[in-house]
Amino acid sequence: MTQTLDTIIIGGGISGLTVAWKLRQIPDHSFLLLEKSTRTGGAVVSCSKAGYQAEAGPHGYLDNCRQSRQLLQETGLDKECIKAPLANFVRYVCIDGDLKCIPQSPPKIIAAPLISPLAKLRVLADLWKKPLTGEPTVSEWVQYRFGKALLPYVDAVFTGTYAGDFERLLIDAVMPGVRQVEKEHGSVIRGLVKKKKVARKGSPKGKKKGLPAMTSFPAGMERLVQRLGEDLREGKEILHSCGVSRCRKDGSHWLVGTGKGQFRSSNLVLAVPVNAALSLLNTISDNAPQTAIPEGKIVTIALGFGKDASLPPGFGYLAPEQEKRFCLGALFSSNMFPGRAPKGHILLESLVGGRRHPERLNLDDDTLISKAVSDMKQLLNLPGEPAYAEVLRPKGGIPQLEAGYPALLAWRNELMQQKKGLYITGFGWEGIGLNEMIKTAFRVSDAIAAGLQDKTEAAQEVKKIYF
Ligand SMILES: Cc1cc2nc3c(=O)[nH]c(=O)nc-3n(C[C@H](O)[C@H](O)[C@H](O)COP(=O)(O)OP(=O)(O)OC[C@H]3O[C@@H](n4cnc5c(N)ncnc54)[C@H](O)[C@@H]3O)c2cc1C
Repeated sequence: MTQTLDTIIIGGGISGLTVAWKLRQIPDHSFLLLEKSTRTGGAVVSCSKAGYQAEAGPHGYLDNCRQSRQLLQETGLDKECIKAPLANFVRYVCIDGDLKCIPQSPPKIIAAPLISPLAKLRVLADLWKKPLTGEPTVSEWVQYRFGKALLPYVDAVFTGTYAGDFERLLIDAVMPGVRQVEKEHGSVIRGLVKKKKVARKGSPKGKKKGLPAMTSFPAGMERLVQRLGEDLREGKEILHSCGVSRCRKDGSHWLVGTGKGQFRSSNLVLAVPVNAALSLLNTISDNAPQTAIPEGKIVTIALGFGKDASLPPGFGYLAPEQEKRFCLGALFSSNMFPGRAPKGHILLESLVGGRRHPERLNLDDDTLISKAVSDMKQLLNLPGEPAYAEVLRPKGGIPQLEAGYPALLAWRNELMQQKKGLYITGFGWEGIGLNEMIKTAFRVSDAIAAGLQDKTEAAQEVKKIYF
């Protein structure tokens, strides 16, 4: 007999687990989370070996999202989490083969000798430039508004977040809030100054918002997803090894087909990455503007070194494409979170591949390690051989929001309005970071609790850039 529930959630990554966490709080609401793998957590995978604590997926997230802070409190993880405040750290961008220190606050960045005085004046041309029409790439848009001197730094930002190619990522897709400011105020600088004034008026006197902190856990990021899933009862609220192959509307219900039978529900939440969602949605709608979007795949090469090696202070570095380096950058993990390496040792995690260099992922582990080590030895004090070296290969890639993405998002929003009880969230739909996944999962569960269709927010948040 087909089991009938209030809500079925497809996907047990942070998105699906957060929706499940919130639905448990609704009295008498029955739900079932279907996860195709034997484990929950999706892209969040921590690796502990020989006293080193590394990550195959996310290394942490900033504590500047209300919903993420609330989730930490509700789960009690606020008492366990560890934080690395941005105010205490610098980051580096590799320019001309050297690591240049990037301060963390905008006034300090402008004051720093990163670009010439003339290039700084060119940044101000933003005040007079008309909004750029069409769907420009990040690179085209930055060059038009602020000049080309900023390009290597912006490249570094999108290499670090999307493992992406800023000559293909669309500004409307990756920074919709900033684009909205440009269109509303005719200038990004003018718009941001106005917004800041309004925000200051509304905030309690004398209370200045500081920089956020990077958040993780002593045993790594996997602790977060493990906590979210630990109370879900197998067979009752969650089914592992239960991949969904099809879903369709049947009258007022959704029918979901899996290798473990068919399920029926009033609400259906797709909490999977964009491409997994698109392959399920083709049985619901046949007019998706795209059948798949590109992904940026990376490997993490975790390297431990003994007492002769040392890291500069800070979080790590990023290398823009013009530097032609093997690694996209590296995190100085044992600086960020002490305890990530045995006493007297350091841990750094370098990233290789990305949208521009997928061929590097075909290299065997030994080659990847030796190429990464020789690349980083040119930039850092790493004498001798690594005491620990491991290649961590995540299963999935990072969705790339490129040409056609705004139309795809508009199609998804329209579909959610047309199909009662359908909620589509997950990796790549409205951002790619953990904070965005948690925020959207809260919105979905609130809409389900209120018996409403999901409504995306009209006013886009202006995301701050942190290197
Ligand atoms: C290498 C890497 C590094 C990252 N670094 C950071 C970082 O430092 N900070 C940060 O904030 N974010 C980072 N991210 C992004 C972050 O990991 C994602 O935002 C988040 O994990 C996405 O969660 P999700 O639940 O939407 O998707 P996923 O984590 O992909 O989970 C989806 C789940 O759905 C399951 N599934 C898929 N299809 C089906 C199906 N048909 N039936 C049933 N189950 C299915 C999958 O098995 C999986 O468990 C990184 C991502 C990667 C890949």
